[in-house]
Parts: sequence; C-alpha cells; structure tokens
Amino acid sequence: MQDDISQNLIDISDRVGRVAQAAGRSPNDVLIVAISKTIPLDRIRAAVSAGQVHFGENRVQEARDKIPQLPDGLIWHLVGHLQSNKTKYCPDLFHWIHSIDSIPLAREVARRYRDKGKVCRALVQVSVSGEEVKFGCEPDETADILKVLIEEEGTEPVGLMTMPPFDPDPEVSRPWFRALRQLRDDLVGQGLPEISLKELSMGMTGDFEVAVEEGATIVRIGTAIFGERDR
Ligand SMILES: *Cc1c(COP(=O)(O)O)cnc(C)c1O
Repeated sequence: MQDDISQNLIDISDRVGRVAQAAGRSPNDVLIVAISKTIPLDRIRAAVSAGQVHFGENRVQEARDKIPQLPDGLIWHLVGHLQSNKTKYCPDLFHWIHSIDSIPLAREVARRYRDKGKVCRALVQVSVSGEEVKFGCEPDETADILKVLIEEEGTEPVGLMTMPPFDPDPEVSRPWFRALRQLRDDLVGQGLPEISLKELSMGMTGDFEVAVEEGATIVRIGTAIFGERDR
C-alpha cells in the first residue's frame, strides 16, 4: 500500500510537471492537494510517509474525526460546500477554504478565524457557466465576495476555485477552466489585487492535465492517489 500510494504521487507529479512545462509553466507553480475524503487513516498516513503535505477534505464532520488522528504539520484544505453552522470548527482544522461562495459565508468565516487569532487562506468558488452545479457563486458576484475577504481581518483571499459537472471527457471541462482564468484576469483588470487572485484551484483526477494547460495553480486529486472510493 505504501508503495502504490507513493508511486501514484510520483506519477501525478510527473504528469503535472510534463504538462506544465509543455504549457511554458514551471512544474513548481502547481500545488497538488491530495483529497482524502472517505479514505481511511492508514492510507492517508502512507501518503504522509511519501512526503505529501497538502490534504483536502470535503466534509467538516469527517475532517473533525480524522485530522486530530493524523500528524501535526500537515496543511488542510476544505474543498467541499461549507454550511454556516459548521464554520465554527474550521479554524482548528483548515488552513485553506476553497468553497467561499457568498458574502455572508465570507463574513462568518472571517469572524471565526479572527476570533481564534488565525487567518484563513480563502478561495471564492465560482460556477462559471451557471449550469447544473449546486454550489459556487455567479461570476458577477465574485468581485463583491472578494472585497469582503480583503476587508475583513481573518481571511486572506488567494484566488478562485471551480468544479465543473462530472464528465468522462476532460475536454468538456476545458471551457470552465478557461472561463475561470478569464474571470480572474478580468477582475485584475478591474483593479482587484493580483496577489489576492494568484491561485486557480481547478482540475481533479479526470481532468487535471487540461486544467494545468489552462492555468491551474492548484489541482485537487483523490482517486489517482488513493484509488477508487467506496462511496
Ligand atoms: C472529491 C473531490 C475532488 C477529487 O476528486 P477525484 O476525482 O477523486 O480526484 C476534488 N475536488 C473536490 C471539491 C472534491 O469533492
């Protein structure tokens, strides 16, 4: 098990590196976050032993169960939908939240981190084409949410995230990824600080190579690292 997970991590970073280089980017510009939702602790520990530091979970309750049992020093990302009644747990669990999609949620997250003397690295989740997805703000709401994250103490906006509807053909995701990067460039053009918009969190097991071609700086990979999930 140790071997297959460390080999998977090597394979993914090779693939990311090759695509980044072909696109004229540095392989170091793309962070691989290992998505460990539903994955048992021993498999997560195997990834830690292989040197993986950044991990992501999509449910607060599951993260509350698992993270305290794992080594300190890991960096945890919340990548799934966040309900406001769960924000109180986040400062003790997550360094990054990728799923900020409303002004009230942005304010609430900032307040929770501020109260603990912490700062959340926050990404705004955008539904770039407005179809078929449950979560994410509309593109034209993004600027106002970012402004809240900038103003409030407790959050440091770092970029944008998107998650296209699942499709086995990665090319179907390409327009979403391109639209997210375009939105970022537009926001910078409107005067929003470039530093707050550096990260583009896009691409999963089925489509991360396309995402890197389109400018992803963070890819969120579960299955290709840990194998198929039971649920
Ligand atoms: C599960 C999940 C991933 C990883 O999915 P894989 O296809 O297993 O790589 C990435 N992002 C989010 C938000 C997820 O929920």
